[in-house]
Amino acid sequence: MRIGAHVDPTDPLAEASARDAEAVQFFLADPQGWKAPKPREDAERLRAADVDLYVHAPYVINVATLNNRIRIPSRKLLLGHAAAAAAVGARGLIVHGGHVNAGDDLAVGFDNWRKTFAYAADSGGFPLPILIENTAGGDKACARHLDALARLWDALGDYEVGFCLDTCHAHAGGEELLGLVDRVKAITGRIDLIHANNSKGTFNSGQDRHDNLTGGTIDPELVVAVIRAAGAPVIVETPGGVEGQAADIAFLRGQLGAAA
Ligand SMILES: [Zn+2]
Repeated sequence: MRIGAHVDPTDPLAEASARDAEAVQFFLADPQGWKAPKPREDAERLRAADVDLYVHAPYVINVATLNNRIRIPSRKLLLGHAAAAAAVGARGLIVHGGHVNAGDDLAVGFDNWRKTFAYAADSGGFPLPILIENTAGGDKACARHLDALARLWDALGDYEVGFCLDTCHAHAGGEELLGLVDRVKAITGRIDLIHANNSKGTFNSGQDRHDNLTGGTIDPELVVAVIRAAGAPVIVETPGGVEGQAADIAFLRGQLGAAA
């Protein structure tokens, strides 16, 4: 099982070795901005690395929204990031499920997701797996609760879509971690990546606040059980820089190895 961390994008391979990580996730542009990613000079080195790479799309992307001024640039930005992520050899592009605004119909949000994949298909399809990630907050989210996730997957039925399960988001979003992998897989058929994070926010608080694995409000053994059940690669998106994340990775290796 490949285990790694979300790291600074300047030199992801150096960040990987500093943490003894087999995988890294990073941004290709400002996560809060709308700028298209620039080609990376180290693309060849990244592609050749034996570290597994994942790219996280900017947080501003919301392809579900009924607001044209957000949805249209979101689609474009997602396509731009998909091309840039493929250029560095990433195994997947992670993007949040998004939401519609209060008063808007969530059904339209699911259909906007379908249109996003249709739009990509018009230009040959996404060049790498798109991993939709569950989110922690909001009443109108596409991928917070499993009933919404099921409707999203129904809408995307014609397309190849991956899933990234974040343990902090699930817990804070109000989904019990016990047995969660089976319930998710009954909907998506797959889990491509686990974001292994503890949560500063309590169960169903709706708060997206990550904590180190042995801190927070989740029993760390539940996070380990999710990873074991999913059998997917793992990225920690936890605080504390090199030291904090290296400790989280070592904790997971110890726990997972102990029962292997
Ligand atoms: Zn995450």
